[in-house]
Amino acid sequence: MPPAVSAGMQQNGAKFIMKVPLLDLKAQYNSIREEILKATQEVYESQYFILGPKVEALEEEIAEYCSSKYAIGVSSGTDALLISLIAADIGPEDSVITTPYTFFATAGSIVRTGARPIFVDIDPDTYNISTRGIENAIDEMTDEKRSGLKAIMPVHLYGQCAEMDPILEIARKYDLIVIEDAAQAIGAQYKGKRAGSIGDFGCFSFFPSKNLGGFGDGGIVTTNSEKLYEKLKIMRVHGSFPKYYHKVIGGNFRLDALQAAIVSVKLKHLDNWTVARQENANRYREMFASADLENIKLPVESQERHIYNQFIISVPEKRDDLRSFLQEAGIGTEVYYPIPMHLQECFSNLNYKKGDFPVSEHAGSHTLALPIYPELTEDQQGYVVEKIKEFYLN
Ligand SMILES: *Cc1c(COP(=O)(O)O)cnc(C)c1O
Repeated sequence: MPPAVSAGMQQNGAKFIMKVPLLDLKAQYNSIREEILKATQEVYESQYFILGPKVEALEEEIAEYCSSKYAIGVSSGTDALLISLIAADIGPEDSVITTPYTFFATAGSIVRTGARPIFVDIDPDTYNISTRGIENAIDEMTDEKRSGLKAIMPVHLYGQCAEMDPILEIARKYDLIVIEDAAQAIGAQYKGKRAGSIGDFGCFSFFPSKNLGGFGDGGIVTTNSEKLYEKLKIMRVHGSFPKYYHKVIGGNFRLDALQAAIVSVKLKHLDNWTVARQENANRYREMFASADLENIKLPVESQERHIYNQFIISVPEKRDDLRSFLQEAGIGTEVYYPIPMHLQECFSNLNYKKGDFPVSEHAGSHTLALPIYPELTEDQQGYVVEKIKEFYLN
């Protein structure tokens, strides 16, 4: 049954098209416009733009939300990763274990410190790093290589935590630092713990398409260590402490007050938005089940609080054709990580080759992100599933 004609539909020849964007930030803005305008106006009136009270307030709120002792606002999620690596003293001669199936910044930040990323394939159900794979990779290392290994950087991909208990166990055994890339996972939970509060550092992004997005770039680092917190604060301002004295070299990793003010407003709504995303995920599950689309793999929930930054399906064949078909039907989708990190040209000196991480490569060529944003309607979801059915059953 095609859905009833509604305002969002256009007639296109004989076909009806319903617009279903991958993400609709205007819908969200419309629901909180007054609060945002009030909070940003306060910043204009104060003329206090860099760090300052708004940033400090956000840091306290995020630390509490993530059940971490400390939080420190930074310029982006990428810089959250970079400043954490720097604060952990990781550099040339060192190596860091991470996943090849992630956004570029994860591996990019490691290489920017001069360290080497050591990739480990993912779990086919969760798309998160395989903990068995980490153990195997370490077992295969020579003593020399093992002595250069300094950290593990798991990514909580698509809004669900990686298997942190085994990761912490390995980290303890080999004396490794754990830097959580939680850019997609604010509020996600693993065994009662919030993403970002489990390892030594938690790195978050306020990129607009994240679940808690600013009106530009921004990010934050969480930690439970006072020592690391003090170090991060110094590194954020070029390594300056006291002012104009540099014992260490940091960078400009500062968060600005406007972003902090906006993110503070949005944080109050985050739990409601998360619930809406989870409800949308459940509704997709029901719709896929009743559409007899069993050969399409839906997200596997292995942890207690998946926040659905993305709703990822895996299809057996013709992923790219499906994507074009949906595009023509007015439905926005995205292919996340078509080229895993080990096959990126800029990392060719790491000497990985096609076939090294088959699960990541398979995910890169068979998965598709469907719209899951909180304001998505039941009609829109019905239309998405209907169109996928039409594509595979015709
Ligand atoms: C978005 C993202 C980042 C980078 O965040 P920016 O704020 O865009 O710099 C890092 N890692 C992952 C997994 C991300 O999704």
